[in-house]
Amino acid sequence: GEVVRVENLSFSYPNGRRALDSVSLSISQGEFVAVMGPSPSGKSTLVYALSGLIPHCVKGEIKGSVKVDGLDTREHPVAELAKRVGVILQDPEAQLLELRAVDEVALPLENLGVPAEEIRLRVGEALEMVGLRGYEERSPSELSGGEKQRLAIASVLALRPKVIVLDEPTANVDPPGTLQVYETLKRLNEEHGLTVIVVENKVEVARRYAKRAVLMEGGRVVADGEPSKVLRSD
Ligand code: ADP
Ligand code: ADP
Repeated sequence: GEVVRVENLSFSYPNGRRALDSVSLSISQGEFVAVMGPSPSGKSTLVYALSGLIPHCVKGEIKGSVKVDGLDTREHPVAELAKRVGVILQDPEAQLLELRAVDEVALPLENLGVPAEEIRLRVGEALEMVGLRGYEERSPSELSGGEKQRLAIASVLALRPKVIVLDEPTANVDPPGTLQVYETLKRLNEEHGLTVIVVENKVEVARRYAKRAVLMEGGRVVADGEPSKVLRSD
């Protein structure tokens, strides 16, 4: 079924800058979508909109609507949306608290009032899913760039979302780390049915992992389809 529905979404920042212009998108459960395009074309703004940061945290003028797992993002608080859609923002450091890996993943669950026994279970499961078993006691400063991103992904997965949206997750990650992050996303997508939406500017990475590419330009979707058809190889 459909897990993300964006209808005629336009967004302007308070300074009047229009970042999204009549964007419509329908994404089904289990898709792996790369969002591409020159900067700036509205990719990060779309990430804010898909995760509910717009309208709850990032202010501006909105037209149109975003529904995730059937919920209109305007009508539900971020904490409620986070159980449906996980978000990884561009700067991984900003998302990590410098706690031990186990606490990093546990804290959002504690904040939601999840019982301790359930937290233990979910933290173990989430670290396992991103290949960070054995890293429980490490802090982010003791992790590589790719490991940090996978820890951020684990902390989002522990909430058991249907969709994960990532904004250039490997922008500051070396090539081996990039591969690990994407192999992790591929496994989550194929084995757990997680819907993946990722802003990625490396064409070769998008072609290899995504099943669908959405190309943006000037705040609009200008192409949408199979990566091999949408993306020029350069
Ligand atoms: P991309 O991710 O494709 O680089 P963005 O979504 O970051 O594009 O930016 C789209 C447009 O919105 C740009 O013109 C950018 O300058 C503007 N923009 C982004 N963030 C803000 C902000 N916080 N305040 C004002 N304008 C912004
Ligand atoms: P450059 O930064 O080299 O001038 P562009 O501004 O054209 O390149 O695009 C920046 C990024 O946007 C590229 O790295 C690519 O990921 C993406 N992009 C833009 N247009 C296309 C396209 N037609 N096919 C694939 N990727 C594209």
